[in-house]
Amino acid sequence: MKITDVVCHILQSKVEKPFVSARGWVYSTRASCVVEISTDEGITGWGECYGPAAVAKSIVDTQFKPRVIGKDPFDVEVIWEDLYNRIKDYGLSGMTISAISGIDIALWDICGRALNKPVHKLIGGAYRTEVIPYATGLYFIDMNRLTEEAVEEALEFKADGFRAIKMKIGLGDLKLDAARVGAVRKAIGPDIKLAVDANHCFSVPNAIKLGRMMEEHDLLWFEEPISPEDRDGYIEVSRALDMAVAGGENEFTRWGFRDIVARKAMDIVQPDLCAAGGFSECRKIAALASAFGVECVPHAWGSAIGLAATVQFLAALPDQPPAFRPMPPMLEFEQTPNPLRDHLATVPIALRNGVVPVPGGPGLGIEIDRSVLLKYKVA
Ligand SMILES: [Mg+2]
Repeated sequence: MKITDVVCHILQSKVEKPFVSARGWVYSTRASCVVEISTDEGITGWGECYGPAAVAKSIVDTQFKPRVIGKDPFDVEVIWEDLYNRIKDYGLSGMTISAISGIDIALWDICGRALNKPVHKLIGGAYRTEVIPYATGLYFIDMNRLTEEAVEEALEFKADGFRAIKMKIGLGDLKLDAARVGAVRKAIGPDIKLAVDANHCFSVPNAIKLGRMMEEHDLLWFEEPISPEDRDGYIEVSRALDMAVAGGENEFTRWGFRDIVARKAMDIVQPDLCAAGGFSECRKIAALASAFGVECVPHAWGSAIGLAATVQFLAALPDQPPAFRPMPPMLEFEQTPNPLRDHLATVPIALRNGVVPVPGGPGLGIEIDRSVLLKYKVA
C-alpha cells in the first residue's frame, strides 16, 4: 500500500457563549486541523493536529506532505522518525510535533482499517472495553456568577452520569478559588471525583498556598499549577502538596517528557495525542512514565478525531499500577459546546451509564460525516 495524498482541512465553528480560562483567552470559536491521508488501495485515514489550525496545515502542506507521499502507511514509525529528523533543527517541540501527530494518527487509522482492527488492538490490545471519562468544564462565563455557574454545571455533569469532573480555577484571588472549589465539592458530594486545572497561572508559592487551602476538598489532581517551563518549580509544588500534581498538555515527544518523568516533577503526565507526537510517540511517553512510576493520563481537546484517538490509546494503556481493584486511566471528555466533537463522526463518542464504550470498528473506530466536514470547513 502506498500513500497517494495528504489533505489538511481547517474546520471552524462559533461558540455561542464564549468562555474563559485562567489564561484569560476568550474562546469564541473552536477550530481544528483535520488531516486526511489517502492510499492507492482506497483506504483513507484521519488525524488531527492540536493548536492553531492554519499553522499546522502550513507545516503539513509545505514540509511533510512531499516526504509522506509514496510511503507505505505501515512504516508508521519510520515515517515519524523521518519527519522529526527533517524538522528538528528548528522544531524540536510545538506546532511541528502537532503536525507530525496528525499524520501519525491518520496512518494508524489506515493500518487499522487495512487489517479491519481497531487501533488499540495494534498497539498492545484491549486492557479495557470501556473507559471512565471525566467531564472537563466549569470555565468562567458570567463574571458575576462564577461560583453559582460552576455549581450548576457540576450538578448537570453529575445528573448526566459523570463520575468525575475537572473544573477550571485561577481567578486571581486564592480565597475565591478555594471557596468556589469548596462550593462545587459540597454540591456534588463526596463520591464524585473532582480535579482542578489552573492552566499554569500561579507562581510556586501561590500554587502551594492554594493547594493547601484546597486539600480538604479531596482533589483527584491539581493540573498545571505553574508555568510549564519551570520544571524545578513543578518539583517544589509536587513535593509540597499531598495531592497529585499533573501537567504536560503543552509538552512534546519522549525527549520533552524525559526530564519531567525522570525527576518526578509531576505525579501525572498528560500528553495530548494530537500534540505530543500521535500514537507512536505517546506510547513511548507512557512507557517512560511507567518506568519511573509516573501516571500517564492523556489530555484531550479537539474534534471527534482527537477524542476517538484518545479513547483508542486509553484502551491499550495498562492500569497504573495494576491492582485487584485498579484505578484505570481516565478519559478527558471536554464538555464545552463543540459541534466538531459532537457531530463530525457519524456515531459520536458518547457517555453511556457513566462510561464511554471503546469503539470496536476498524482504525479509530469512527466514520467521518463528510457533510459535517464540509459544513465547518473554512480552508
Ligand atoms: Mg489542562
